Amino acid sequence: EAHGAGGNQYCFDTPALNATVLRRQALEHALRGALERGEFVLHYQPRVSLKDGAIVGLEALLRWQHPELGLVPPLQFIPLAEETGLIVPVGEWVIGAACRQIRCWRERGLAVPPVAINLSARQFRSGELHGTIAAALAAEGLEGAQLELEITESTTMADVEEAVATMRKLKALGVSLALDDFGTGYSSLAYLKRFPIDYLKIDRAFVRDVVTEPDDAAICIATIRLAHSLRLKVIAEGVESEAQMEYLRRQGCDEIQGFYFSRPVEGEALAVMLGDGARMALAAFADGAPPP
Ligand code: C2E
Ligand code: MG
Ligand code: MG
Ligand code: MG
Repeated sequence: EAHGAGGNQYCFDTPALNATVLRRQALEHALRGALERGEFVLHYQPRVSLKDGAIVGLEALLRWQHPELGLVPPLQFIPLAEETGLIVPVGEWVIGAACRQIRCWRERGLAVPPVAINLSARQFRSGELHGTIAAALAAEGLEGAQLELEITESTTMADVEEAVATMRKLKALGVSLALDDFGTGYSSLAYLKRFPIDYLKIDRAFVRDVVTEPDDAAICIATIRLAHSLRLKVIAEGVESEAQMEYLRRQGCDEIQGFYFSRPVEGEALAVMLGDGARMALAAFADGAPPP
């Protein structure tokens, strides 16, 4: 509870709140040193084509391995990194690390599909992003088409004109753009039309009950139609079951990502998957799959 202590001063003495504040302060402090201590690592989750089950992309997902706090999930530290501005150097590390990983995989003779990197709002608006990506690509000798950038609707909303200009500039590097978590933000269809994007990612919130909830099914179907009408590809995220996959495939969804095919894994495990030319080992793709 908060006690009025005169004027606008309040003294919060709820233990839970204090614990939250303490954890937050501890996290912020730890986060500041995490880059120097090398505590960040990227995991990669493949996404597969619903045409033939081939791996057509990877998403880099940031993990923070703290010695005492353990594995801190991104949703616990990315908002904090965003508020404190630490997301800019952390995001720069992500871009560099992903590009180094791609070059390492390639040096081992692996065919590496495009790797998607998540951008936070602050990073997107920082003005340094274009230069950071160009430098990372050049440092590892990669072409822009090797990267995809994922942005969310809320990232684009503060200033739509500026967002469109930033997207165009990034696209000129040869990278693809995806609108992540589609349907959970506030962007209007008028903006969507203007964004030079290549993919819509249907948020996992709509995929979870797509087979059993007619409302979720309606949203997924409408999103797939909308995307195709705008000449965009659609990726469904959070696909965990064969039933979800089959349903989305029948509705014309292009690609899926989710635990059903693979969780996010370390670079080494991903290399094994790429080396195997892993495809979904499914009846759906076993016979009658269209030739490449
Ligand atoms: P996102 O970009 O929408 O990433 C998808 C999230 O769904 C990931 O969570 C992934 O592990 C999880 N996921 C994938 N398939 C399934 C599934 O079948 N079932 C379930 N239950 N979950 C699934 P994760 O790795 O915890 O990341 C959460 C969010 O943190 C990401 O959501 C993204 O917004 C953010 N994030 C992750 N890495 C970065 C990064 O390098 N930079 C920034 N700015 N944000 C990042
Ligand atoms: Mg994403
Ligand atoms: Mg997403
Ligand atoms: Mg999501």
